[in-house]
Amino acid sequence: MNQPDILVVGAGITGASAALELARSGQTVEVIERYGPAAMASGWTLAGVRQSGRDPAELAMAKMAVDLWCNLDRKLEAETGYHQHGNLRLARTAQEFETIRDLVAEQSAAGLTMQFLSNLAEVRDVVPALSENVVAASWCASDGSADPIATVSAYLNMAQKLGATLSMGEEVQELIVTEGRITQVVTNLRTLSPGKVILASGVLINRLLDPLGLALPLRRPVVTVLRTRPAPKILGPVLGVANANMAARQESSGRFRVTSGAEDNGTLTEQDGKPLVRSTARAVMGTIRRVANVLPEFADAEVEGIWGGMLDVTPDALPVIDKVPGVQNLVIAAGFSGHGFGIGPVTGPVVADLVLDRPLRIDLQAFRFDRFAGRAQADAPLTLHG
Ligand SMILES: Cc1cc2nc3c(=O)[nH]c(=O)nc-3n(C[C@H](O)[C@H](O)[C@H](O)COP(=O)(O)OP(=O)(O)OC[C@H]3O[C@@H](n4cnc5c(N)ncnc54)[C@H](O)[C@@H]3O)c2cc1C
Repeated sequence: MNQPDILVVGAGITGASAALELARSGQTVEVIERYGPAAMASGWTLAGVRQSGRDPAELAMAKMAVDLWCNLDRKLEAETGYHQHGNLRLARTAQEFETIRDLVAEQSAAGLTMQFLSNLAEVRDVVPALSENVVAASWCASDGSADPIATVSAYLNMAQKLGATLSMGEEVQELIVTEGRITQVVTNLRTLSPGKVILASGVLINRLLDPLGLALPLRRPVVTVLRTRPAPKILGPVLGVANANMAARQESSGRFRVTSGAEDNGTLTEQDGKPLVRSTARAVMGTIRRVANVLPEFADAEVEGIWGGMLDVTPDALPVIDKVPGVQNLVIAAGFSGHGFGIGPVTGPVVADLVLDRPLRIDLQAFRFDRFAGRAQADAPLTLHG
């Protein structure tokens, strides 16, 4: 296919979800991906599907996403590993107690059904294996998690079934803009002339925006991830903590998948043809210590894998989902700041609304491209992945 109606750059959850929605809407769609499905953030992720702890601007989207997740296996005719087993955000100190209590009050007022579990006994009713270092928690029963690689693959497979072309192992290297439109897209293999372009290229987005003078002010901190071999099942919900310096869940296989908080900006390299972000021994030690501090049995699990993940953090930790001013046929969906997986089922349809000039199903004011005008550096606040 040489002239797709719409070219999607990136096969993470964002690009995959957009591709399916567009194929369903009868568009000819091509997805170009430098590595493979879920090769970057959408594979590195903890894959929590969370409404709790969201910025108010993202809450409507997160709630809509949960409705979609509940029927996603049926829609995609595949197993995404989605389970609605809840999210506990833990307090470990008196100060965190107040943070969590206030969070529950604010989010309940915003319409999310949540509870404040004000002592260890109440928290242990949900997860008996938690340690005495936990003093309270928020509980959102409608949160959950999914298998990220299965999910992205399921989206792409269904998009392909509906006619989308998937071009894996190909890199988009340049967008050529003539008179305010992208007229050509240059890859390492060929030149295309799509009608419209969606950039869903995660932490690499600025490589294509920089030459157009349109770069987003992103920080790219590293998050350390550890995955263990299957262990006895002790953890149902996803665990977070008040200051976001760890998160944890136990997959249905019994494997723990745990993460650090956002650490310093990292370096993205390649190994064996795959993207690679290295973590430090200090970060690995800190992650193990913090997880075992609240879930002691984690320390006995056998480690199967350790990797670094990189976040695309904007100054307000909210994504950019918008048409690009000055380039008529370009839409951007990036800067998800550590929480773009859970909302993926909505991001794709919203991006499709934008690109097809349909009425928007979600108010996108908070996600405008031009809100950072004149800002060179990101001074991002706390980001709550997990
Ligand atoms: C460790 C970690 C934990 C996280 N935990 C959670 C969580 O619990 N819940 C949650 O909701 N979110 C979480 N997130 C965030 C979430 O994973 C991301 O926001 C989401 O996966 C972003 O998806 P994406 O499709 O926008 O980007 P990506 O998945 O990064 O996809 C972008 C793709 O574009 C490709 N690409 C880039 N440039 C080009 C190019 N020029 N040509 C071709 N292809 C290109 C890349 O190879 C990549 O595959 C976490 C992230 C990390 C790293």
